[in-house]
Amino acid sequence: MPLEIRQFPCLSDNYGFLVKDAETGETATIDTPDAAVIIAAAEHAGWPVTQIWNTHHHYDHAGGNADVAARFNAKIVAPASEARRIPDIDTPVREGDVVELGASRARVYETPGHTTGHVVYHFEDDGVAFVGDTLFALGCGRLFEGDPAQMWSSLSKLRAWPDDTVIYCAHEYTQSNARFALSVDPTNEALQSYAAEVEAKRADDKPTVPTILSAELAANPFLRADDPGLQHAMGHDGDVVATFGEIRRRKDVFK
Ligand code: ZN
Ligand code: FE
Repeated sequence: MPLEIRQFPCLSDNYGFLVKDAETGETATIDTPDAAVIIAAAEHAGWPVTQIWNTHHHYDHAGGNADVAARFNAKIVAPASEARRIPDIDTPVREGDVVELGASRARVYETPGHTTGHVVYHFEDDGVAFVGDTLFALGCGRLFEGDPAQMWSSLSKLRAWPDDTVIYCAHEYTQSNARFALSVDPTNEALQSYAAEVEAKRADDKPTVPTILSAELAANPFLRADDPGLQHAMGHDGDVVATFGEIRRRKDVFK
């Protein structure tokens, strides 16, 4: 039985996600960027939220936990290594754990870099993943608590998933990410056409999330640090981590 997914804007540029296991009706919210908006969406859909799955401790991801948990008596699933920063976790998760949503299952990957304990959830049988602030459409999370080697290793786990995996990122950052990506990889034709699609969608007020892994592998510079042309352009031939670090550094100062 498939998953049913509802996606809606929260705060200034976050997305909220409700995921329902169609067989049992059990529903999770992926993170809690805005408790009031999530509760309203769940009530409107008639999907009581029984689980909260956190990706990391930031306020725009776990800040609504207490209110959502109180409203639905929902259990909190969250990274074990962020237990000091996410209160009242019911199910702490680690690399390789499998979490159940009714009859559906998701595998947990630890993806440190944005925060030390960030995790992502991959519904392997459904080909769907919720990646928080680790991977964005044409971008990746800022390295608040990690270094380039760590983040590249985290992103490499996602790169190994099936090409057609549907990727749900936590923010609508794609338009500015596209402009940056073109600045470091201007001759990439896959990126040029992806960027044109993004401009058209945003002009129409449409979301650019979810994305497909294959599109990111072809166009997202943060997944292409092993590309010889990009390595050369960044001045780090043969060095994937230095190339990744240089792309990330340039993004941090890009205007
Ligand atoms: Zn974050
Ligand atoms: Fe965030």
